Amino acid sequence: MLEKLQSQPADALLALIKMYADDEREDKIDLGVGVYRTGEGATPVFSAIKGAETRLLEQQDSKSYLGPEGDMGFVQALMPYVFGEDATMGGRIAGMQTPGGTGAVRLALALAQRAGAERVHLGLPSWPNHVQILEDLGMEAVPFDHANADGSANLAALIAAIDGAAPGDMVLLHGCCHNPTGIDYTPEDWDVIAQALERNGVLPLLDIAYQGLGRGLDEDVAGVRSVLAAVPEALIAYSCDKNFGLYRDRVGAFYVMAQDGGTLDTILSNANALARATWSMPPDHGAAAVRIALRDPDLTREWRTELDGMRDRMRDVRRQLAVADSDAPGLNLAALTEQNGLFAVLPLDRGQIAALREEHAIYMAGSGRINIAGLHVGNIGKFIAALADVTQR
Ligand code: PMP
Repeated sequence: MLEKLQSQPADALLALIKMYADDEREDKIDLGVGVYRTGEGATPVFSAIKGAETRLLEQQDSKSYLGPEGDMGFVQALMPYVFGEDATMGGRIAGMQTPGGTGAVRLALALAQRAGAERVHLGLPSWPNHVQILEDLGMEAVPFDHANADGSANLAALIAAIDGAAPGDMVLLHGCCHNPTGIDYTPEDWDVIAQALERNGVLPLLDIAYQGLGRGLDEDVAGVRSVLAAVPEALIAYSCDKNFGLYRDRVGAFYVMAQDGGTLDTILSNANALARATWSMPPDHGAAAVRIALRDPDLTREWRTELDGMRDRMRDVRRQLAVADSDAPGLNLAALTEQNGLFAVLPLDRGQIAALREEHAIYMAGSGRINIAGLHVGNIGKFIAALADVTQR
């Protein structure tokens, strides 16, 4: 039976990682992999998480099953950060733990599909897994352009998609630090988006994977909160894997805001059943560490300081690239300071990306996406000189 399976294309980013590892040039630069790196090129465990893990090790006296909803203390501890002071919007929001943000996106879409959703409007380019999950579920991705050529968000395209949506359609929006472009909607844009969603009744799925890595913890979810204040119902997917540095521990949460708090139990019973049939229960360790960190004021302070440092470092790299705007004409490096988070897309063609890799040992995705955190004092000069070389031939 299994011979009927057709081989699938290898993940391009994984192939890039291998090429990078095999490159023996000492000054090679990896801008491909999507993890935060320090100025020394490391991706360390947060010290707030180390502290929480030490306590977890001492205090945990059982690893018995928790249930499909996972660690509800974690799910609740996160809510004020995402939703603000009235963290349940008057009893209309509840959630559960998921295996990473990926699990949350998958669960949100599968749940909406159960409720009758078939089509999801999605700005492209997007995180490739969005389309992959939709395809796997048999839902239709309806694309629109996320960005304008000048490096700003294409608000008009989104509003046209919302206005033209059919009843039962959804729209998937990145809460902040858009992957791959780094191009977020402005606060004014979010108000317009919220009004359009309210007007048309399109169900939003808000995907928050980088809170705190753009402009600040509150700033990065201000747009999401504008939407939630306007619409009757919404789905929220959240990842702690970047902003707590927990990548491989797979820490995420799924939340739903219902029209009426009385329907939350029914909605979540469906999410629970889906989780049970998919992964049964999420992995515990990372979520437990986040719960401990967020319940302890000292660890929380430490986490926030570490997050501030990461954000400041990436803003600094963006500023240094923007200053070099005239060195690499046509790449619009000046716009990088207006954009947020770990990623940016440079409008390089295939030949230029290949020349960067072959002649300069600089590795980036074929889309021109770069990991801003892959740059630091020790390599940014080389990177700018290489961009100047390939753009001025
Ligand atoms: N959504 C977006 C937009 C992302 O970029 C990512 C991570 N790359 C995720 C969701 C999922 O993150 P994870 O499953 O690693 O928590």
